[in-house]
Amino acid sequence: MTTMAKSDAITTITTHYIGGSFVASHGREVVDIIKPTNGQVIARVTLADEEDTRRAIDAARNAFAGFSRSTREERAAILRRLHEAASARLDDLTAAMVEEYGGVVQFAGPIVKSGVDAFLAAERALQDLPLTRSWGKTTVTLEPVGVAGLITAWNANALFICLKVASAVAAGCTVVIKPSELSALQARVLVEALHEADLPKGLLNVVTGRGSVVGAELVRNPDVAKISFTGSVAVGESIMRDGAQTMKRVTLELGGKSPTILLDDAVLEQAIPSALGMAFLNSGQACAAGTRLLVPKSRLDAVRRAIIDAMAAFPVGDPADPKTAIGPMVSQKQYERVQSYIHKGIAEGAEVLVGGEGRPTGLEAGYYVKPTVFVNVTNEMTIAREEIFGPVLSVIAYDSEDEAVRIANDSPYGLHAAVLGSDLPRARRVASQIRAGRIVINHMTDDPQAPWGGFKFSGIGREYGRYGIEAFLETRAILE
Ligand code: NAD
Repeated sequence: MTTMAKSDAITTITTHYIGGSFVASHGREVVDIIKPTNGQVIARVTLADEEDTRRAIDAARNAFAGFSRSTREERAAILRRLHEAASARLDDLTAAMVEEYGGVVQFAGPIVKSGVDAFLAAERALQDLPLTRSWGKTTVTLEPVGVAGLITAWNANALFICLKVASAVAAGCTVVIKPSELSALQARVLVEALHEADLPKGLLNVVTGRGSVVGAELVRNPDVAKISFTGSVAVGESIMRDGAQTMKRVTLELGGKSPTILLDDAVLEQAIPSALGMAFLNSGQACAAGTRLLVPKSRLDAVRRAIIDAMAAFPVGDPADPKTAIGPMVSQKQYERVQSYIHKGIAEGAEVLVGGEGRPTGLEAGYYVKPTVFVNVTNEMTIAREEIFGPVLSVIAYDSEDEAVRIANDSPYGLHAAVLGSDLPRARRVASQIRAGRIVINHMTDDPQAPWGGFKFSGIGREYGRYGIEAFLETRAILE
């Protein structure tokens, strides 16, 4: 089914998904969705207001009464249906991510697929999760926490929604989803897909609107027990603070400034393309992007040459072209943010090895930036401390393995990290000293049962697998 009207190539969305139906928006504010490759308006979306949000919460609360008592098998069956329904629109979801964010198809395809597969991964994790334990006259059960508000960032919207919905449904929660207001098209394709899963009415509700309106209502509403949030540190802090009034349970997936430690035995022909791939992930607009590359001083010259050679494999351009590695930034605002950091890096004395300020030649119409690698960066510089959210890599030199670990951990963040080296036991030893929620060795890889989430300012709680489901559960003991 489609619930989007199209005229003159502009899509119009005027409804929200509440109680199993697409219903007219009570909110009246209309926003444009802009295509990042050329700045053209591609959609007009009517945003939800507090009233739409309360209607969605009511629908979820009514559905919770029944769904919270569902069996493991019933939830597993729903997860399989969600997977089937989302799989049917994989190509449409990928196309929407390419069009709406300028996400490069070589990233958008796999990331959407991993979102869709999250339903099956959650089903598997649910089968292995002991929901009841008893001893003597004591029985302990894991109970769904209640109505969950799911608030997502724009950079991989379908993945975040699928991941959060999968865990919440596995736990027996009903949900109100607030996608980023920059994700209206993708969110709509996904909701149309999930509508076909024949869900209990009110289990899943979606209201697209502003964070300060819809998000804030979810956070303060006493009928919402839990907020699972993916986004910036500043908003994460406000959710914790404002949610405290109603004792909200919170999962916060926030930002990162991830280190990649290149050990002195790394083979540069493999390690440098791998490091650049992690830095430029999703055109650098990724929470996990490895934006600090820590290099032994003794290998600095060789690393500089290897980076210049490897850049040919990271062309900037049309995100729909499978050869393109780096697309435009999502918006004019994001373009300007990245430019300001490149400017600051130069002003603070870092050396531009590749890239720099301005747009790449021939790509003046969209929000394109030049993928930029700085060398002679110290870990105290702004570009090494703050999350830029664009294709900007800082190369930082170290003297010893201990110093590399110290620099890696000297960050307010602790989401992701990488260690690159030939001696695996040594790479594992280094990885075990890094204070981050996930560390990969030698290449970016994933395991849908492994936890995802951050130390320090990168957040609170974990997603994926049983860890993600546990975040939507309360523990109850009955003693005789
Ligand atoms: P953002 O914090 O601006 O927005 C995230 C969501 O929060 C949006 O839906 C927004 O509308 C909503 N929001 C805004 N104000 C709110 C409020 N007062 N109350 C409730 N909700 C509110 O972040 P963004 O620009 O969409 O995303 C980029 C950020 O997300 C980066 O910092 C990035 O690192 C982070 N991120 C983290 C992960 C992770 O898994 N850790 C993944 C992706 C992105």
